Formats: sequence, structure tokens, C-alpha cells
Amino acid sequence: MDRQRNLDQLSGQSFDLCIIGGGATGAGCALDAALRGLKVCLIEKEDFAAQTSSKSTKLIHGGVRYLEQAVKQLSREQFHMVRKALRERKTLLRNAPHLTRPLPLLTPCHNWFEGVYYSIGLKMYDWLAGSRNLSPSRWLSKKQVLELIPQLQTQGLHSAVMYYDGQLDDARFCLALIRSAAREGAVVLNHTEALDFGRSKFGKLKSVEVRDRLSGKTYEIQAKVFVNATGPFADHIREMANPKMRPRMRVSRGSHIVLKKSHLPGDTAILVPKTDDGRVLFLIPWQEQVLVGTTDLEDQLSETPMPTEDETKYLIGYVNRYLSTPITEADVRAGFTGQRPLIEAIFAKDTKSLVRDHEVEQDDKSKLISILGGKWTTYRLMASDTIDAVCEQLKISDQECRTENHILIGGEKYSPALESELTRTYGFDSDIARHLLHKYGSEALEVAALTRENSAWKARLADGHPFIQAQVIFAARKEMACSPEDILYRRLGLGLMDAAAAEQAYPVITRLLTEA
Ligand SMILES: Cc1cc2nc3c(=O)[nH]c(=O)nc-3n(C[C@H](O)[C@H](O)[C@H](O)COP(=O)(O)OP(=O)(O)OC[C@H]3O[C@@H](n4cnc5c(N)ncnc54)[C@H](O)[C@@H]3O)c2cc1C
Repeated sequence: MDRQRNLDQLSGQSFDLCIIGGGATGAGCALDAALRGLKVCLIEKEDFAAQTSSKSTKLIHGGVRYLEQAVKQLSREQFHMVRKALRERKTLLRNAPHLTRPLPLLTPCHNWFEGVYYSIGLKMYDWLAGSRNLSPSRWLSKKQVLELIPQLQTQGLHSAVMYYDGQLDDARFCLALIRSAAREGAVVLNHTEALDFGRSKFGKLKSVEVRDRLSGKTYEIQAKVFVNATGPFADHIREMANPKMRPRMRVSRGSHIVLKKSHLPGDTAILVPKTDDGRVLFLIPWQEQVLVGTTDLEDQLSETPMPTEDETKYLIGYVNRYLSTPITEADVRAGFTGQRPLIEAIFAKDTKSLVRDHEVEQDDKSKLISILGGKWTTYRLMASDTIDAVCEQLKISDQECRTENHILIGGEKYSPALESELTRTYGFDSDIARHLLHKYGSEALEVAALTRENSAWKARLADGHPFIQAQVIFAARKEMACSPEDILYRRLGLGLMDAAAAEQAYPVITRLLTEA
């Protein structure tokens, strides 16, 4: 992706569609629209996935808690939402096999009654997934559980129910959507902010003024339709389009902490089914680390949310309840916080009880289409509903959604066998070969080939991590990375998993960016 070329294409032509926001939702919309043959541009104020979409718990799930809520409230709408997400789970695993994997999760039970309760609930979860279920849930004895996770706290443990969901590399999944859209002709730009709209005399949007935040230059983009895919920031764009629109969004913050893999080795995650404040919490093996999260607290909108001391203590408290070796703050390698884009429900008491479904809203006056709410797992369905609405405005009736079977970049020729090819041909250590395969899929060979141009690029960026210098060069040349932060937090993800290692890598990345 050539950023300057894309900037040059912004002016002097009219797009069918301009998408504001380059998180999961906007990126999904860009690919969907480009595959339907629309002339699309997408602008993102920061970097692709810089906000919520790189700070999720990285689960591809229907949501066991939403299922419990659906049963308790006898809500057909919530059942439908869980079922939709469960079926979508398999589509994501298939369309980006390098960036996703099935994830086994254990739900510890403290007595026989809990075992029965969670077994029935998780059988229902299996049943809702239908033929698209990943693997059936099972009730395991205490002995079987401890064979799987010997680190689990044994005191009070009766048994556990094991079930399956999916896991994704969220920031790179978003980038794969962006690059797949660009391959289909979409003009995509990061670090480009929507400032204000131009309107016809009837108030319909016809252009948007944007600023390239790297050069400070402004551009005017003409488009027939505008989509607001700014997640938690959606109210700002809605108000910019029509100041009379009532705010709809409520945000809730969710924080995670990251620990060394040795605290929870193996591939199986733990679901804490009920915290003291009535939520679920996860301890998840994640890219050779352990991800613990999340909190859920109503919050003010922020561009730089970070875990508070109280949140960190809260999460450590749960780790110490469920794992036998206690941890302290010194064991926390990194932490990150995302803000959930929740749609206001007039009678909802707190953000925990707000449903995570989505809504496509069209403003009668400005014709702005806003895609509100939702979650990572359902980004494709959200995009499909949104682009249906776009096609309706454009009066296009013969273009159906084509993303269901569209394999994302890096996934087409992906094969686990590439790992041994990387080791054999390039002499990489096995952890590096595995890491490259899961970050890039079939493109791992292109990253590896860079080390022929300069063998120094084979070096690791930080001790004890499989990230290598060639990845920085690839990010700058192919993935529109513009700064060390883009690389550390989104292209690599090292910044979110180990703060000290990120600090070590920072000066090397800065130098490599000048070499790329
Ligand atoms: C803590 C947490 C955990 C979660 N865990 C999961 C999970 O495990 N599984 C799951 O399915 N879902 C999960 N979710 C939900 C999921 O992450 C979000 O629903 C999803 O990432 C939202 O994507 P988005 O594109 O709508 O918003 P965002 O990712 O926030 O993207 C919106 C983008 O718009 C940009 N923007 C804003 N204003 C402008 C402007 N003026 N001009 C240009 N660009 C602009 C922003 O910079 C931002 O990048 C979680 C959410 C949170 C907060």
C-alpha cells in the first residue's frame, strides 16, 4: 500500500462511498463495498485498528454470558445474536486461518450443582452453533482438569466444563481486511482525520474535509455516500453531520493485563464464570503470553485509555484466586484498555447489561449512515448490513455481499507446512518460523526473503521474543506503517504484550524505518 499514491487519489475524483474509521467495522465495510464493485475510500485518524480493534480480548465468540442473559430474560433477540455470532465464528476461522485458531476454555466448577449448570449452558452453546460448532463441550473430573492445567488452584475445585471458542490476532486481522480491500481497489489512508462535511443546500453530505496528520495538509473528498464507522467516537461524526442528532453511544472501559506464559503454559484458557460484580473474566494463552481481562466500567470517551491501578489490582486478585502460584504487580509485563462502543438503551442501569448487538442508522437529513455497536466477531455481518444500506442509497440492487467466502490476504496459500520451509530455507529458529507464519500466513515467505537483501534483518528485535528486524522493513514497505508506534502496537503487537521489550526494540525500529 503506497500512502502518497493514495493521498494523491483523494482529490479530483468522486467516490461512491467514503468510510470514516479504520477499525474492524470500517475495514470490514471497505472490503465488502470494494468486492461489490463500489469506488471506495477509507480514512482513519490514527493508525488502522489503533483504538478498540487492537485492544479487545481477542475472542471470536458468541458470548457465554450473553447466552446466560438470553435464558434468564427469555430474550429471543439475544438468542438470535448469540447464534449469529457463533455461526460467524467458523467463517472467521476459515477466511483467515493464519490469524485465528480454535481456543479450548475451561470453566472451573466448585460443586456438583455448578458442574450441571455450566454443562447444560455450554451444551446449549454447542447446540446454537449447530453444524458450525467447533468441538462439543465436556464435563471433566478434577483429575482430568489438573492434567490439562496443573497451575490451577486446587482448593475448592470440584471439576470443570471444557468448551471451544475462537481466538484472533485482532490488529493484524484488521490490517488484513484493509489490505484485502486495497487489493480490490479501495483507497485507504491512516493518520488522516475527518474534520468537517460539505453539504448540498438540502443538508445532504457531499464532501468531507480531511487532514493528513503527518504533513498537516488538508484535502476535500467528494463522495455519494458517507459511512460513519468510528466505534466509540460515532457521536462526534453524527453531530458533525447533523447537530440535531441525539447522542446514542455509551462507552465502557475494559482493561487487560499481560503475564509471562509460564503462569499458564499450554493452549487452554480459563473462563472465570462469575466475578463478584457478576461478569465473566478470562485468563487466555495469547502469543506466548497470558492475557487476563477484562474489567467493565462506564467511562468518559478517551483516545488514550490505560489500565488504572485499581483495575490492575482487581485482575491480579482473580489470577490469584484461580492459579496456585500467586502473582504481584511485578509479574505484569504490560496492560491495555479498550472502550466498548455500546448503543444507549434508555432503561439500562449499567454498561454490563447493555446488549453488544449492532444497528445501522440512517440520518434523514444528511443521509449519513452510522454503524453503531457490535463486536469483533460480527464485523462481517455489520459490514454486510451497512453496505446493503449504502447500495440502497446508491440505488444499486444487483450487488450482493461477497465476503462470506473471501479468504483474506495471507490466508490463500496458507499451510502449516510453511513453518518447516521457513526453518529449512532461511535457517530461522522454530519459534521465529512459527511466529512469522501466524503473523503473515503465506506472506511469511516474503518477509523471510527480505533477509536475503540484508542478512542483519534476521536479528531479533528484543530478547526472548520471536520478532525480527525484517518485519519492520515489511511493515514500512507493504503495510503503511508510519511510526515506531504503528509497528510496535499494531503490525507486531509487542508493545501490548511486553513494555520492557518494546522499550528495547524502539530505537532499533526507529533506525530501521530510515533504512526501509
Ligand atoms: C475491552 C474490550 C474487549 C473486547 N473483546 C472482544 C472480544 O473478545 N471479541 C469480540 O468479538 N469483540 C470484543 N470487543 C468488541 C470489539 O473490540 C469492538 O466492537 C470493535 O473493535 C469495534 O470496532 P470499530 O471499528 O467499530 O471501532 P474502533 O476500533 O474504535 O475504530 C474506530 C476508528 O475510528 C477512528 N476515528 C474516530 N474519529 C475519526 C475521525 N474524525 N476521522 C477518521 N477516523 C476517526 C478511530 O481512530 C478508530 O480507529 C471488545 C471490546 C473491548 C473494549
